[in-house]
Amino acid sequence: MVTAALKCPFCGSEDVRPYGTSNGKKRYACNNTECSHQTFYAEYTYNGCKPDVKKAIIKWTADGAGVRATARGLGVSTDTVINELKKKKR
Ligand SMILES: [Zn+2]
Repeated sequence: MVTAALKCPFCGSEDVRPYGTSNGKKRYACNNTECSHQTFYAEYTYNGCKPDVKKAIIKWTADGAGVRATARGLGVSTDTVINELKKKKR
């Protein structure tokens, strides 16, 4: 049986350990001390909470997609897109 190696969604490290559960979802801790986050979930309930989607919001916007196009394309609400863009002032 092949199990997909679990990677930290923030730094890509495979050096992770189980860190209990929260709301019935498994939680993991990243062992990389330089990682920007300490814990993460293997599954997220909402698309807007996924680290990948947050990165994608920035990328889509940088590529010239509007707020509504980004929200539709990523399956999140326009509020999620706007909140995320307000957070990242780069
Ligand atoms: Zn990490």
